[in-house]
Amino acid sequence: MPAITKVSILSTGNVAIRPEHARGNGSPMIWWLLTSRRWTAQRPINVYVIEHRDGLVLFDTGQDRASVTDRHYFPGGIVGFFYRRLARFAIGEGDTLTAQLGALGYRASDVTMAVLSHLHQDHIGGIAELPNAEIVVSAIDWADIDGLGALLNGVMADHVRLPGVRYRPVDIPRAVDTEMDAAIAPFTHALDLRGDGSLLLLPTPGHSPGSMSLLVRAEGLPPLLLVGDLTYDISLLAGKHVPGVGEKKGLLVSTRAVLGLQHRHPDLVVLAAHDPAAAGLLAGAVGSKMAS
Ligand SMILES: [Zn+2]
Repeated sequence: MPAITKVSILSTGNVAIRPEHARGNGSPMIWWLLTSRRWTAQRPINVYVIEHRDGLVLFDTGQDRASVTDRHYFPGGIVGFFYRRLARFAIGEGDTLTAQLGALGYRASDVTMAVLSHLHQDHIGGIAELPNAEIVVSAIDWADIDGLGALLNGVMADHVRLPGVRYRPVDIPRAVDTEMDAAIAPFTHALDLRGDGSLLLLPTPGHSPGSMSLLVRAEGLPPLLLVGDLTYDISLLAGKHVPGVGEKKGLLVSTRAVLGLQHRHPDLVVLAAHDPAAAGLLAGAVGSKMAS
């Protein structure tokens, strides 16, 4: 039995962001956050669903519907004002993680592992719905969760550190075997999540210091790279236009590494958390291999 039998995508609603967020224009985030008058079209809040023989694995968990139904979900005061300037969410009853998993024929309780690209609100929103999942997070981002700047940097610790949720903070080690080296180059570090080479976690810092991407290697599929918020649009990624949120130098280094990986594996499909093209790209990847 192959390690991975199916990869799907779902979206927990939609989000509009500032154009300066999707493509940085050189001005500091605080500036465009205060002055931008425009929103992008609605974008998905993608969650990737991977059927692995050891259990169902998610990459990211989406945005919590409570963020649009509970007026106390966001911080108050000036910090809350910044959160409202950052993003506008539209999340219907049928958009919860549980409902969306159900539409794909899964139960939330089937999920045994959820990997979070980083800890921002629209990636952690479904963790409370997963009673049987180990939640894999970057040890770097985890260490920062109570820092003074965390809330201002988009991490609401109260919604992350929930009772009963099992976290596994991970460091990504240097790859030692040559097969893995060849699979991930020019990356040099990877964490083999299931021990069979099918799910390799790669460091892609920039959007947050510990941001991670997941390389999915399934028989009968081109390699897939789930990149979280490293980019919001793979055509911007291809042009090395990095988003306006995060540390620019780190974003550029990680972007180059992803493009280097794609150069070595031209069939690599890069799938982002809020790229409107992602669902079509995944469908194309699945379809092309099935047809061939
Ligand atoms: Zn983010």
